[in-house]
Amino acid sequence: MASTAEPKKKIAIIGAGLVGSLASINFARQGHEVHIYEFREDIRTAELVQGRSINLALSRRGQTALAAIGLEKEIVANSILMKGRMTHDLQGNTKEILYDPLHGQGLFSVGRKYLNEKLLNLAEKNPNIHMHFEKKLVTAKLDNGDLIFKDLKTNVDVKENADLIVGCDGAYSQVRAQMIKRPGFSFSQQYIRHGYLELCIPAKDGEFQMPPNYLHIWPRHSFMMIALPNKDKSFTVTLSMPFETFESIQTENDLLDFFDEHYPDATALIGKDRLLKDFFKSKPQHMVSIKCNSYNIGSKAVILGDAAHAMVPYYGQGMNCGFEDCTLLDKILSQSGITINDALKQFSESRWEDANAMCDLAMYNYIEMRDLVTKRTFFMRKKIDEF
Ligand code: FAD
Repeated sequence: MASTAEPKKKIAIIGAGLVGSLASINFARQGHEVHIYEFREDIRTAELVQGRSINLALSRRGQTALAAIGLEKEIVANSILMKGRMTHDLQGNTKEILYDPLHGQGLFSVGRKYLNEKLLNLAEKNPNIHMHFEKKLVTAKLDNGDLIFKDLKTNVDVKENADLIVGCDGAYSQVRAQMIKRPGFSFSQQYIRHGYLELCIPAKDGEFQMPPNYLHIWPRHSFMMIALPNKDKSFTVTLSMPFETFESIQTENDLLDFFDEHYPDATALIGKDRLLKDFFKSKPQHMVSIKCNSYNIGSKAVILGDAAHAMVPYYGQGMNCGFEDCTLLDKILSQSGITINDALKQFSESRWEDANAMCDLAMYNYIEMRDLVTKRTFFMRKKIDEF
């Protein structure tokens, strides 16, 4: 329950993604009136959910946040343990590298939609939480809490007001865009020269085509492919490489030749027809790394998750760090007698350096995974500069 020194607040959470839905639960449990505003349709009822990676690696950071709201066991039970990496070389040979040979611990591959739905379902049960879908934040006045949303169903602008605005609106955050205009706000963003594209290794005869309890990696030095298992016995495959390499693949033959040369074992697993269809139906996506400081404007606004610290996906920690933001902020807000102003300040000051370090580690880990420990760290610094 709330232990802050102030009356309960009306809190507007922007974004009902993974971090926004978790943050809403924590704030509501502190006794505040929470309104979540989400640009998209409710993913629980939407026919087609567009978005990034179908599955995610859930680590201890994320599990701790889920445990605090009583969801960890259910989520883990519906995920797939990845006890290590399994590398695939050019000849199709595989090698197992366990994360924790002594205790068998690892990461959990969890469905993004499944996890988001579970969080929204739990949020909906809390009478302090009110959800507003298809409401796109257009502007926010961070000093007085005035918000303007475009109602995407009616195309009409709607005004709202909140005591505290919580920006959980992802890497291209509109809340952060308002913060940037203010003096003293530090911000940097870096796009890498590599993009990613998702493919799929489907189940065959109702079974996984590769050992399921691994994060599969095809390290190829300047690029790589990874695959994470899904509950339906498929694997979501992420192909990452420089945009120029993507651009060099123009025809079906280009693609099949490229796979024959670099991923010979994967063509059969994906299936030629599916490979051609999935590769050419989508464009490679950009990856951005964002650092900023501070994360709050007094007691009126704070940013969490990717809005505060988007990172390239190769450390598998973006969501996990966003969840950890929620854990940390909740802990600070639970201190007896603390004001929102002091709590947000404490949160920001104790968080931004750690988050920046995670952004850097995520960059390093892309090189680590591509080269898979064949090169040493001093060499990596040089490589990072090449992005
Ligand atoms: P988002 O998931 O981006 O959610 C933001 C929400 O805000 C969205 O629902 C959006 O519709 C809404 N929104 C945006 N603008 C507005 C607006 N103006 N008004 C209203 N609503 C708005 N992380 C991991 O921990 N493990 C992994 O294995 C992992 N793998 C990844 C693989 C890939 C390919 C990618 C791209 C990322 C991966 N990540 C992973 C990172 C992870 O996806 C993000 O860190 C995580 O989704 C961040 O959650 P978020 O809620 O902060 O932002």
